[in-house]
Amino acid sequence: MTPDKYIKNYINGALIPASSGDYIDNINPAAGKVYSHLPDSDAEDVQIAVEAAERAFPEWSKMGAQKRFRILNRVADIIEQNLESFAHAESVDSGKPVAMSRSVDIPRAHDNIQFFATAIIHYASEAHHMEGTAFNFTLRQPIGVVGCISPWNLPLYLFTWKIAPALAAGNTVVAKPSEITPMTAYMLSKACSEAGMPPGVLNVVHGLGPKVGQAIVEHPKVKAISFTGGTNTGKKIAAIAAPMFKKLSLELGGKNPNIIFEDCDFDQMIVDTLRSSFSNNGQICLCGSRIYIQRSIYEKFKDEFVKRTQFLKVGDPFSSVTDLGSLVSKAHKEKVMSCLALAEVEGGKILCGGKSLEMKGEIKEGYFLSPAVIEGLPPNCRTNQEEIFGPVVTITPFDTEEEALEMANGTNYGLSATVWTKDVAKANRMAEKLQAGIVWVNCWLLRDLRTPFGGMKSSGVGREGGLEALRFFTEAKNVCQKY
Ligand code: NAD
Repeated sequence: MTPDKYIKNYINGALIPASSGDYIDNINPAAGKVYSHLPDSDAEDVQIAVEAAERAFPEWSKMGAQKRFRILNRVADIIEQNLESFAHAESVDSGKPVAMSRSVDIPRAHDNIQFFATAIIHYASEAHHMEGTAFNFTLRQPIGVVGCISPWNLPLYLFTWKIAPALAAGNTVVAKPSEITPMTAYMLSKACSEAGMPPGVLNVVHGLGPKVGQAIVEHPKVKAISFTGGTNTGKKIAAIAAPMFKKLSLELGGKNPNIIFEDCDFDQMIVDTLRSSFSNNGQICLCGSRIYIQRSIYEKFKDEFVKRTQFLKVGDPFSSVTDLGSLVSKAHKEKVMSCLALAEVEGGKILCGGKSLEMKGEIKEGYFLSPAVIEGLPPNCRTNQEEIFGPVVTITPFDTEEEALEMANGTNYGLSATVWTKDVAKANRMAEKLQAGIVWVNCWLLRDLRTPFGGMKSSGVGREGGLEALRFFTEAKNVCQKY
């Protein structure tokens, strides 16, 4: 399975250009160069895709879970068989190290599809018996045509995290990957055809958010929207979808705290904190960007953490020694650099990194930045309140559990939090009080696909993962039958 120079939409089972015939440049961010083109689609393409999805719905929703399982499982198999080409394409498109695409992004895309393909054949609904009078049974029926919109940071990983449960539950889908990283969604379209997915079941429309994404959200025949992306985009989507009474799942931004107590396993914590700070250049919604360290170990942490951060190798995504590749785009690099400038204006001291890096050869024009550690900022400044989504963390000392909790909960976001301590009771007290949809204790990004996934406050509405996703993508109907 090879990437093509001209990406196509996947509508009604066919790979076709946008109806306008126009294309958008697709950039390889490590090279800083255009390397392919994606369709510049609009509402007309969305309309054709929705019509195809509507036509496909009766057969797909009624074919039975076993048949849907077989088709989806074949898609997962094709991804597994083509792991190398998917991983290569993901890294060219996003600038992330191919080692990461190969070990995280693509295996997880495979697992997402396999997980929900399998889940649907085990999915059961509830019954409630009213003794001597009646029994209730609840039907869980697919909704119809649903919309799935995903971001650029984990392209195929997050795209499949949405479409797999939607399709498994019997819906047909109109989906839009990020225009910044469209390639592996295009390759997935081909995998669906090869797996024998009926035409119109999955439709992938490429293009810009305000044109294609918004047309999906606005379309009256699209009954539910599952969106992952920025909080401001989520607001716009909610404003359109809520008055239309669409079901909405919004997975939005984060500003995740990482709380490190003096009684933690220091060696394990430092390894995982480096990972939780800078994996994928900090471009993971679950990265810990505010690190709170108990004062007695603050200096020890600072010395070791800065030393290890400086040791991280930034460079060619295809080199085996690279830890961090390029940022995803020029605009994003500029945004992260403006956040670094703001941190300095706010009185922060950049202990290391934060510099634009000049590379040589093929990656001379790429968007590289050295990972930055900042100290000396108060909890309520913009740097500690607003999402940066880059290789930037702040470190701040705390004295008591209460103080750590207050700072950790002191933002509008509530996606995830990490706690490092060997004291189980303290870990449990923290987990209970942290305002976050996901709390990791003595680990980070350890994921069980059966668990609920999502954020509180401005980090989102609803939960993905396991049965939560299948519930979202089905309509519950209770049938009460009298004796
Ligand atoms: P974004 O909001 O700019 O774009 C996300 C998707 O929405 C893209 O496909 C985009 O084209 C589309 N879009 C843009 N405007 C739209 C509109 N008006 N209507 C409909 N669709 C529109 O986000 P991004 O920059 O691609 O991704 C980074 C953001 O995603 C960060 O804020 C990050 O925290 C968040 N994120 C959250 C999670 C989570 O699970 N909570 C996971 C990954 C990323």
